[in-house]
Amino acid sequence: IDNTLSQMQQAYNRHFELQSELHLDIYTDEQKLKQLLFILLDNARKYSEDQILVQISKQKAHIEIEIRDFGVGIPNDHIPHLFDRFYRVSQDRNRKTGGTGLGLSIAKVIAELLQIEIKVESEVGVGTKFTLTIPIQIGELKEDSQ
Ligand code: ATP
Repeated sequence: IDNTLSQMQQAYNRHFELQSELHLDIYTDEQKLKQLLFILLDNARKYSEDQILVQISKQKAHIEIEIRDFGVGIPNDHIPHLFDRFYRVSQDRNRKTGGTGLGLSIAKVIAELLQIEIKVESEVGVGTKFTLTIPIQIGELKEDSQ
């Protein structure tokens, strides 16, 4: 995660702030997780101008990764369609940034492959938060009786 943020920071000269309560080992497909993060961070950068905040926290049964920007936001009525292929909120809002409308549909597929839940909350003019929820799978503990 750190690595992906540094790459984005260097490529775009924008500030990506990582806040994490803990050091974690996440066993997953690294390339896919990077690609998923890249899509969300790239959107956060395209649709905002301030810093982008990434927060990692541990809840009872899952890890949460929040990607938050303080940009244009997304009107509520568009939220249900965001993950559709080729869906873009409006030509006007997007003229400056360009894009295909494919990013989030790919993000959704990757998230499903990794068993990660992805959800979005947004307010126009305030910003957008994407949350990735990764379940914690606790393995069976085998005690050696000897
Ligand atoms: P690309 O496929 O190149 O990423 P895109 O950004 O248009 O292009 P998606 O990533 O699928 O495509 O996003 C769909 C639409 O959702 C965008 O066009 C944009 O209007 C809106 N959107 C996505 N992320 C954000 C965000 N963080 N803030 C505001 N709007 C967003």
